[in-house]
Amino acid sequence: MLKSPKKAAQSLMTWYHENKRDLPFRGIDNPYFTWVSEIMLQQTQVDTAVPYFNRFIERFQTVCDLARADQAEVLKYWEGLGYYRRAKHLHESAQRICDEMDGVFPSDLKTIESLKGVGRYIARAIHSIAFNQPSAAVDGNVLRVITRLTGYDEDVMKPAHARVVEGVAQSMIEHATPKDFTQALMELGATVCQKSPKCEQCPMQSMCVAYQENRQAELPVMIKKTKKTEKHYHVFVVLNAGHAFLIKRPENGLLANLYTFPQYEGSLDAAIHAFESDVAARVKDTESLFELDHVFSHQIWHLTVHRVYLTDDSMIPFVSLTNFPYAIAKAHLKIIDQIKEI
Ligand code: SF4
Repeated sequence: MLKSPKKAAQSLMTWYHENKRDLPFRGIDNPYFTWVSEIMLQQTQVDTAVPYFNRFIERFQTVCDLARADQAEVLKYWEGLGYYRRAKHLHESAQRICDEMDGVFPSDLKTIESLKGVGRYIARAIHSIAFNQPSAAVDGNVLRVITRLTGYDEDVMKPAHARVVEGVAQSMIEHATPKDFTQALMELGATVCQKSPKCEQCPMQSMCVAYQENRQAELPVMIKKTKKTEKHYHVFVVLNAGHAFLIKRPENGLLANLYTFPQYEGSLDAAIHAFESDVAARVKDTESLFELDHVFSHQIWHLTVHRVYLTDDSMIPFVSLTNFPYAIAKAHLKIIDQIKEI
């Protein structure tokens, strides 16, 4: 598929050494740091992830520091990044490494992939970046680069087709230093071969099929089958002198153990009724504030936010929103931000 994997790898590496961004998780031979960074970067942009990464590893400097921490504290360090399951899996896997592997991060691909929350891509990224082993790792950025470079137009959402792409990357990594190659390919996808590619800056332009055939916009082909479920909720904000009423979500399910304002599905009357029953207080008045949407990987929440006044709020356990010690769900952090502006 690729006429000269060696030439492509060499062009990429020359470009990388001259153009790579200075990131805190680069150039550190520490598989724990690579693991944390890759988990954070899974669904988060680099600029957003960097301050989270710095704070996280300053507090949890080793895998056993993370293992011994309370889950609530780990979630607090993740607050605002979303996809909190990533933090829970990181914490559980840290406990496994600390308890069963003497705190030594595993170096073989199979064991890395057996860690909770680590899929094929992250395992191979850690194997190549942290252990300098030739395991090509294919994330969204790499998919984009390789499909365009080769003109591969099969649906890469299908695992068999994604493996074809991985095979091309594998044929290249064997001609480079693995830890640099993996980061170089991701870097090219993130900074040059973006959705709207900057082909004039690309070190592989002369060998790129999509560029030669002007098909960059068509690739990669990704046919998504799953439709997101849409949910509508009324959110009730009860405030008292800069403090608010939050509830902890159940131990299982979406946003498990995180804090939110109370929210209910159904009509406003039914929601008020359910809220009154939960807080054992009567609603005196409601004021509609604003609406906002929050998109998860498989759900969209449409939130209608109301300020709620109770006839008697003396039994409500209000908490400070400025130094609340537990993690608040990202959708509800957005609500807090908007409330501050009102
Ligand atoms: S030439 Fe353009 S489309 Fe091809 S790999 Fe480079 S940036 Fe991507």
